[in-house]
Amino acid sequence: MEKEKIRELKSLIASRLTRPMRYYLDTCTRCGLCYDTCHAYYGIPKKEYSPVGRAEVVRRAVKKHFRPSGRLFPYWGDATALDERVMDEMKEAAFSCTGCRRCMMYCPFGIDMPYILGIAKVLLIGYGNAPEELVMLADAAVEKGKSIDEFKEGFLSVIGDMELEVQKRLGLPSADGLIPMEKKNADVLFVGLSGAHSIIHPAVIFNAAKENWTLSFFEAVNFGMFAGDPEKMQFIADRVVNEAKALGVKEVVIVECGTAYRIPKFLLGPLPFKVTSIVEKIHQYLAENRIRMKDGAIAEPLTYHDPCQLGRNAGVFDEPREILARLASDYREMSPTREYNWCCGGGGGLVALDNEEFRIKSGKAKKDQIDATGAKIVVSACENCILQLNTIKDGYGLDVEVRSLSELVAERLAV
Ligand code: SF4
Ligand code: SF4
Repeated sequence: MEKEKIRELKSLIASRLTRPMRYYLDTCTRCGLCYDTCHAYYGIPKKEYSPVGRAEVVRRAVKKHFRPSGRLFPYWGDATALDERVMDEMKEAAFSCTGCRRCMMYCPFGIDMPYILGIAKVLLIGYGNAPEELVMLADAAVEKGKSIDEFKEGFLSVIGDMELEVQKRLGLPSADGLIPMEKKNADVLFVGLSGAHSIIHPAVIFNAAKENWTLSFFEAVNFGMFAGDPEKMQFIADRVVNEAKALGVKEVVIVECGTAYRIPKFLLGPLPFKVTSIVEKIHQYLAENRIRMKDGAIAEPLTYHDPCQLGRNAGVFDEPREILARLASDYREMSPTREYNWCCGGGGGLVALDNEEFRIKSGKAKKDQIDATGAKIVVSACENCILQLNTIKDGYGLDVEVRSLSELVAERLAV
């Protein structure tokens, strides 16, 4: 690697050597307690897929370039210089980690692997070797944010069809205004995904609850976050924040996407509106009797997969369980569950990459958990998880149906 490039990459490392980062890098004792807590290692038991194995790739490069021992005695110990091979190792380490933080639950020091791997991701962007798919998707989202008016007409042209579907589901006399756009001073701004399914089910629920709501022109998913690009992450997140401020809404409700929920909820600082996930909103409507479901309508055994970013990393555990316990007469819990539940292997943008074989293998822990419940329906509340659960289902030939929570609720409203 050219000296100039190494200098550039070193300054990127320096920009990420915050106090918590130094703590994480210095504190790890390599005790190995986190070794087999990663679903990737469970499915592919190789050191490079263990949490500590991933962090070591970053730690060795930091040691080489930022520790006196690494600089003075370059041939001693395990310090490694930045070169093409190390960059390949960083790519494998960073983009086979879903950012689930299950390993953190078992580490005596609470070491945050995805945070450490943030160094690898910024280096890969600087080196021009971040996964092309994620970079392209992040760029497309940024572009849309810059020229939203050009996208509006096309988007509005498909809203009519979705309104007709909502009208049919609820048996309403008219479809007009069932999916309101750019409604000033609405109570709720809902942020969906690019597929119609992510809008129709929540739209049915909002209309059944007689919510004063409006739909965002933007998608909730943040590929800047998945790529590990802080500037693009901020820009993509700001699109919705600025839209919500311009409309004067009181609350932003995020579609079933754990990362899209966590960013405005926890990472953007104080905002002039409340941030809620659609799961919490459904729970609230049920508690306030604003919607009613056909309780016990599902007789087949059903289980719930906790999306890591919604459950372990945001604490939304009870709401989905309480909703499903009402809907299903045979609700079965996975083991381990809640904050210790296994990651499905699809988060962190991994479902957008060309890596199906890896994801099937790394989904083995989830497959074993589903098998053990004997459930015939697996529900989740994150689009990434739903996609990955279907990959696991097909990869292992599981006899289960994978469903989204808001889809199940919308289909079983007592209207
Ligand atoms: S955050 Fe999740 S995917 Fe990443 S190393 Fe830890 S357990 Fe594995
Ligand atoms: S459990 Fe914590 S301290 Fe032990 S090896 Fe893993 S990250 Fe390091």
